[in-house]
Amino acid sequence: MAAARTKTLRADVAIAGGGPVGLTLALALARRGYSTVVADAAAPPKPGKSGADSRAYFIAYGCWRIFKALELEDALLANAEPVTSVEAEGRIGGISFLADECSEPVLGYMVESANLLPVLHNAVKAETSVTLIAPAKIESVAFGDPDAVLQLASGEVRASLVIGCDGAKSIVRKAAGLRWEGWDYDAKAISATVKLSKPHNSSARQVFLPGGPLAVLPLKGDRANLIWTERAAVADALMALDDRGFEAELAKSAGDFVPGAKLSGGRHVFPVSLRVADKFHGPRVALAGDSAHVIHPLGGQGLNLGLKDAAALVDVIAEAGRAGLDIGGPSSLEPYTRWRRTDVMSAAAAMEAFARVFSGPLPVRLVAGLAMQAAGSVREARKLFAREAGGDLGELPSLMRAG
Ligand SMILES: Cc1cc2nc3c(=O)[nH]c(=O)nc-3n(C[C@H](O)[C@H](O)[C@H](O)COP(=O)(O)OP(=O)(O)OC[C@H]3O[C@@H](n4cnc5c(N)ncnc54)[C@H](O)[C@@H]3O)c2cc1C
Repeated sequence: MAAARTKTLRADVAIAGGGPVGLTLALALARRGYSTVVADAAAPPKPGKSGADSRAYFIAYGCWRIFKALELEDALLANAEPVTSVEAEGRIGGISFLADECSEPVLGYMVESANLLPVLHNAVKAETSVTLIAPAKIESVAFGDPDAVLQLASGEVRASLVIGCDGAKSIVRKAAGLRWEGWDYDAKAISATVKLSKPHNSSARQVFLPGGPLAVLPLKGDRANLIWTERAAVADALMALDDRGFEAELAKSAGDFVPGAKLSGGRHVFPVSLRVADKFHGPRVALAGDSAHVIHPLGGQGLNLGLKDAAALVDVIAEAGRAGLDIGGPSSLEPYTRWRRTDVMSAAAAMEAFARVFSGPLPVRLVAGLAMQAAGSVREARKLFAREAGGDLGELPSLMRAG
């Protein structure tokens, strides 16, 4: 039986999806004086429970400034590991750079999903102008005038603007008729946490194996988060192994890279694709995070792009508000697509080039490895890589500016 539709809630902005991007956006809008209602299909995380998601995120120092500005830094630092160097290796040659090269103490921080979401939820709970409804699946979305409406089983949310932060399968994007272009790779990414037998020295490392990249990302307590990308059938076979069998395959494929690694948590597998919405806005709608773009996880950039979307959107909304414009009007939101889609397309193109080159035939991989090594020997190139990895290039939203 359908639940009675009793309640109507109203806010300046309705946010579909309370993942890391949706919650960060709600907090940032609250600081600019906008009220929001966030609806998420999943229940809020329970304190002390690690949750079902084994992912850990590299948050580049440029995006970390968003958390700092929202006063989340102290709570996050309790469980975050700083990243002070990055090393990427091809079959021959590679590149490495240090935080020093971008004149920042760290390139970014590794934060486990199981630690990030509770910090965001606690901050949202303390914010009176954010109402979080969860668990609450959004059943449909309609864009009218003057309101857009999110329909939930328990009622509806009305707002001048709906922002889809509801992930790659976004119901908001579909309802708005925004095209979703791209492709799936014949690849899957396995995320797993391991205990290392040697200190990781706060270094994020990536090696390009014949089946795809393996990233070893430092976590607190000499643990590391692995993102092991393999052809889809191989990844499925690895997932079907028990823990000891998985560790044995890891040792066989990359033993010298992760000596003595032992699993210390669950494993999860994710499809790998590249898709970008043709526009990030429409009448009374905007998209942010994975609802607007998904890219190969090899550069650890997906969430960073989503956090930049959130920060940029706050500037665009505030600018429209200051000018006395309707914040859901297409002309108010036009600058958002122009600003963010360009940045996303260049990150997507870089990830695509890496993914193709390093899964190509051996001679191509050899040349690419040598090219990386050559670039890595030039200080200015290393500086540029360091600033790119730190999310500190291009036109930055106000929440991401230093100082
Ligand atoms: C293995 C792996 C490793 C990664 N590592 C990194 C990294 O190191 N750094 C980085 O920057 N990025 C990384 N990424 C990318 C990152 O995971 C995503 O970009 C990020 O999770 C996107 O956040 P989001 O809030 O946009 O979407 P999601 O995290 O997908 O959240 C969407 C939310 O919407 C809710 N929702 C969906 N549909 C509905 C509905 N109908 N009604 C109500 N709620 C709904 C869901 O419950 C969910 O809470 C990685 C990805 C993978 C696969």
